[in-house]
Amino acid sequence: MKGEPAPPDWFTEGYAHIWMPYTQMKTSPPPQAVKSTEGCRILLEDGRELIDGIASWWSACHGYNHPHIVAAIKRQAEAMPHVMLAGLSNEPAFTLAARLAAMTPGDLNRVFFSESGSVSVEIAMKMAVQFWLNQGHEDRKKFIAFKDGYHGDTIGTMGVGDPDNIMHGPFSGLMPEQLVVELPRTEAEMAAFETFVAENAGICAGIIMEPLVQGAGGMIFHEAETVRFVREVCDRHDLLLILDEIMVGLGRLGSQFACTQAGVIPDLMTLSKSLTGGTMALAATIASERIFDAFYADELERCLMHGPTYTGNALACAAANASLDLFETEPRLEQVGRIAGHLAGALEPCRDVPGVVDVRVRGAIGVVELDALGDMYWIRGRFVEEGCWVRPFGNVVYLMPSFTIEDAELAQLTDATRKIVGEWSERHGA
Ligand code: PMP
Repeated sequence: MKGEPAPPDWFTEGYAHIWMPYTQMKTSPPPQAVKSTEGCRILLEDGRELIDGIASWWSACHGYNHPHIVAAIKRQAEAMPHVMLAGLSNEPAFTLAARLAAMTPGDLNRVFFSESGSVSVEIAMKMAVQFWLNQGHEDRKKFIAFKDGYHGDTIGTMGVGDPDNIMHGPFSGLMPEQLVVELPRTEAEMAAFETFVAENAGICAGIIMEPLVQGAGGMIFHEAETVRFVREVCDRHDLLLILDEIMVGLGRLGSQFACTQAGVIPDLMTLSKSLTGGTMALAATIASERIFDAFYADELERCLMHGPTYTGNALACAAANASLDLFETEPRLEQVGRIAGHLAGALEPCRDVPGVVDVRVRGAIGVVELDALGDMYWIRGRFVEEGCWVRPFGNVVYLMPSFTIEDAELAQLTDATRKIVGEWSERHGA
């Protein structure tokens, strides 16, 4: 457009070749060209600054470029960025494993590292299936999972996500078919769910769920009671419980883990996102002693035959150790409480806007649910004009900022949200 500075060469040359995520390359406006980040801000090549409302897909929990994490990465890069983990070891990975074992509840004591949330869920699923195989159960290879759930985009994880969502629906038939049912909330639903589980437990390895908030499937909340009930059902029918804490774990809901808030200990837990504070690709699958014991044997074939090239990557684990330091030394959970209070008050007026179906807040997640999103590019563009980076999906506009966001920055995000939801409503109604 006239008057706008030309994008830098790297953008123009690369945009002809890169394939962007979740993007219709033909119709989507080009992405913003980012020069650098600082605190909760994204600095664009053209000189504008955006306040990040979603912390780079919910990962940058300490804000960007936190000096403590940056220093740890620099030190590690100079000493040893990576060595393979089979037959070799490295201090950051071992230290991180011990720290995660100490932090997580119960006897979740064995940590397997991978490089993405999806892969960590795949590993949890393999561990659960092989747990049964190693005890002579050949038929327990299915999972019970929940509508509106999301556990990743790889083929295995698509199978345990909502089969009807736009991301995974078209691939039905590709992934192994799993038993995906409504999350039981009411007493009647709980009874029906238990009957269903009783009928199918014999062919299942376990149940997988996102505790307290189903994220990418629509930012849908459920109560601790539901998580507890699913745990009890697992116990009654001898199923393993996998809790995917990739989004909610490490503070997002105001407690270290969502499961501790619900008073539940899973058999397997997955973590990623906040683990390295949004700096390096790293995920962890954490297993209980009971799971690990089923693999601990004289026979080679009982071991877990899994080993991604970058498992236990020293650079990523050093970043994660530094990220965990910050959870210990800076007041993250109080910050989440403050963000929750602000979001609840500041988003509430959206409830009266025609076309708004719901406003809900849990921890540092604020959601304005619309009856239909309509033109998401328009909404995204309007946020950019207001100096904010927010990326609605489905029919939800949501904020999930860094825990370190300043009050004025948060107010700018919520002011923009109220304003843009109002404008959306007028356009939408017209
Ligand atoms: N599980 C949950 C709950 C997630 O929110 C995500 C990512 N949005 C994933 C799994 C997949 O993680 P990744 O994108 O790192 O593969």
